Amino acid sequence: MTNELQQNLYDFAPAQLEQVLGGLVSPAFRVKQIADWLHLRGVDSFDAMSNIPKETRALLAERFTIALPDVVERTTPAADGSQKYLFTLRDGQRIESVYMPMRDRTSVCLSSQAGCAVGCTFCVTGFFGAGRNLTPSEMLGQFFVVQREHAVPMELMNVVFMGMGEPLLNFEHLVTTLNILYRNIAPKRITVSTSGIIPGLEDLARLDRRPNLAISINAPDRERREEIMPITKKYPLDELMATLRRFPLEKGREMTMEYVLLAGYNDSPEDARALARLIRGLPSKVNAIPFNEDANLPSWMKRPTEAAIDRFVDALVHAGARVTVRRSKGREIAAACGQLRGKTVARSKASRERELADGSVDRSGRVETARVQRDRIDDERR
Ligand code: SAH
Ligand code: SF4
Repeated sequence: MTNELQQNLYDFAPAQLEQVLGGLVSPAFRVKQIADWLHLRGVDSFDAMSNIPKETRALLAERFTIALPDVVERTTPAADGSQKYLFTLRDGQRIESVYMPMRDRTSVCLSSQAGCAVGCTFCVTGFFGAGRNLTPSEMLGQFFVVQREHAVPMELMNVVFMGMGEPLLNFEHLVTTLNILYRNIAPKRITVSTSGIIPGLEDLARLDRRPNLAISINAPDRERREEIMPITKKYPLDELMATLRRFPLEKGREMTMEYVLLAGYNDSPEDARALARLIRGLPSKVNAIPFNEDANLPSWMKRPTEAAIDRFVDALVHAGARVTVRRSKGREIAAACGQLRGKTVARSKASRERELADGSVDRSGRVETARVQRDRIDDERR
């Protein structure tokens, strides 16, 4: 049984784990075997470590835990196979992850905090407010549970930190988690999405091995960005752009500029041209994310029509930017992490009715087909 005082071995960075185990376990190769069971296999019970002597397993189990978060809910897979997971943590907090199978690879979208203090006005996680930082074991747990459940070969796995929370406000735990993930996955196949926390970006720039960057730009000018992303008053757009231009990008890499499309607010062709000007010269592509509606969010916020999305994308392409659009439901549910938890926290009758009416919870899968095909077309435009 796990007790509150037991430390989770997944919370130690690789070198630290070696130190901790080295004081308890010998010979040295056993330490390596145990680390491999954890970091390469993601086991959640000491008994699974079949090449480790029983006494050593018992000794470890007395002092430590390797428990991973429990799944409390899984959505029915969407037509493209995407599935959202709701996990419960040791202190009862709830977080979400999303499994997204793609043609030649699979991505898992992880949460980094149980809430978010940034408070973007279009985001359900922001609406529910700040939560605590997730520990490395809680972030790795989401990864291993989803990877194992779908038996995805490690070489096909990609990871995106685009779930609940602001990863750069949980920097230390993020770095430990990355260093463990790197044992399975190359840095270029891991993406960290941020609302633009400048000191965090500067810390990230100093790392030897850096993940890909996705930046939530969401508005083409400072005024509107500050309106929908209050934190950007502290980290203004021009300073953010200067930080990004200094960011050491590995050869062949580019940044992703995420842009939530809100009908009548930031989705005009003029906005697209302003966005293209803003990012000109920066190796990047835009990921346009049609706003995902939710009863907890301001009622003026609407998803643009398909025609408006097309006009925006065309204007961006015309202005020289590269762009992909997240059209399929699976990608959308990933964009709107926090919505599933939001529903279990405060599930109003109105939100339930809206959800059934617009099909944002997909039960039949049929609603999806047309959009998935569009997604494919957009992918090819890259
Ligand atoms: N905090 C980080 C990562 C999590 S949010 C960040 O902000 O980048 C991941 C993405 O989901 C962000 O680009 C955000 O703009 C987008 N997003 C949040 N709420 C959304 C909604 N209701 N509809 C569409 N995209 C949303
Ligand atoms: Fe936090 Fe990202 Fe949501 Fe903004 S969009 S509130 S930074 S999780």
